[in-house]
Amino acid sequence: MQDLLCPLCQLVNEDHDHIFFQCDYAAEIWRSILQWQEIRRNAMNWTEGVQWGMQYMKGKSSKALMYRMAMSNVVYHIWLERNARIFKQQQKPASYLIRLII
Ligand SMILES: [Zn+2]
Repeated sequence: MQDLLCPLCQLVNEDHDHIFFQCDYAAEIWRSILQWQEIRRNAMNWTEGVQWGMQYMKGKSSKALMYRMAMSNVVYHIWLERNARIFKQQQKPASYLIRLII
């Protein structure tokens, strides 16, 4: 069914793991944002991403704060982009979101 497809790639069904982490669109954003923060980490799913953050990015160091801010910003902007595509038929490239988040 058309309306179950991921609005970002139109290739697979939409679920949280896919849309926020595994989708090529989201993965490109994560790669750039993590690289920008000099964090070496493989792509992961929702649960792993949150657990990784709680384990390695807790506390009040500036790196930890930046990571948590970036994480919520990536999720927030991917969600806005998803809604813009569904409800306004507007599309922005991943590179635009990356610049916006940084
Ligand atoms: Zn997708």
